[in-house]
This record gives sequence, structure tokens and C-alpha cells, in this order.
Amino acid sequence: MSDKGLVLVIEDEPAIAELQRMYLTREGYGVHLARDGAEGLAAARRLKPVAIVLDVGLPTMDGTEVCKALRDEGDWVPVLFVTARDDEVDRILGLELGADDYLTKPFSPRELVSRVRAVLRRTQGHVAPPPLTLGPVRLDLETREVTVDGEPVQLTVTEFDLLAALLRKPGRVLSRDQLLSQVWGYEAAAGTRTVDVHVGQVRQKLGAAGDLIRTVRGVGYATSKP
Ligand code: CA
Repeated sequence: MSDKGLVLVIEDEPAIAELQRMYLTREGYGVHLARDGAEGLAAARRLKPVAIVLDVGLPTMDGTEVCKALRDEGDWVPVLFVTARDDEVDRILGLELGADDYLTKPFSPRELVSRVRAVLRRTQGHVAPPPLTLGPVRLDLETREVTVDGEPVQLTVTEFDLLAALLRKPGRVLSRDQLLSQVWGYEAAAGTRTVDVHVGQVRQKLGAAGDLIRTVRGVGYATSKP
């Protein structure tokens, strides 16, 4: 591994992937190649690269879906999109995925390297995720602070993660099992009652805003539609 850090290249065209690997390696980056979207997403989660060079047109999951999945998990790793189509650029930027830059094919190796370098310089390998909000509730993933109408609310680590899981999917119902695996990191063995108890505590701490977390009978929980 190089001291400049690992760049994950997700690209299904072997010739382009090899070229990217060659030039980034020459620049002193470690490079890991993934050939499709699902493999790339798994690699991003496992390897925690300093940046991702992400082709848009990919098998299994396209590049924007990979990026969205990472953002939903609170991962704001710098992403340099690569697309073969000029007209796709507006769509990508419009998705507000925090795409740090993009390259259109064909590009020169020098362009690739300078864009990766620029993205890393700008973000220093790190982008602050935008806060999650629900009515008067504001949750800052970076500082792990929660406020209601600007007033700080003290949540435990578990309560914070639980609230974040719900706020990441506005209006969507999350089952108790989903919340257990997302927040506690294991399956239902622990008992879904645990989820109910913690949701109750979060609601209580949020005061009147706690009503914005709805119980969906027989299923789980959801935030009120924004
Ligand atoms: Ca492609």
C-alpha cells in the first residue's frame, strides 16, 4: 500500500481499468479495481478508500446507485465520476450525491491523475456529510450533535444511530429487524423489543418533535413524511 492512500477504481471496461490502475499507481496511489457496481460497493465498504473513480455505466448497479448507497450510509468519500456521455453530467450533478468532480470519456491519463489529485486536495480525503433534518430536529453526523429548534438534545450512541437510521430514509418504514441490523449490527436474536424501548427513549428526549417518529403497527417505524 502506498502512503498516498488507496483509490478504488470501479470500471467494467478492462482496458480503461488497467490504464487507470497504471497511471494512478505511477502517481503513488494504491489501486484496487472492481468490475461492477455491487463488487465496487462491497470494496468501498471493506477497504475505505481515500477516493473512488466511479464509472457511471456499470453492470449490477450503476455508478450513481453505488454512490447513493454510500451516501445513505453516511460515507462521503470523494467520488470522481467517469461517464461516456456528456449529457449525463447534468443528471449526475442533479442527484446531489456530493459528486466531487467528473470526467467524460475519452480522457487522457494526465487528466485523470490531476482530477484525482485535485479532488483529494479539495476534500483532504474527507467531506462533511450534510445534516439530517426532520421538522425542527437536526442531526449532525459529523459532530454527532442533535438539536430540536436549535436546543441541544443528549442522546446515547445507540439512540443517535437509531434516529440517524430513521432520518436517512424520510417517510420510509423500517422494520424492527432492519433497525436491529443497521443500528446494533446483528440480527433479530437480541429481540426486537430492544428497538421499541430505544425508540421510546428517543421520542421522549425529542419532546413534542418525538411525534414525528410514527409507529407502523406490526411492522416498525417511520418518520412523518417531509
Ligand atoms: Ca462502463
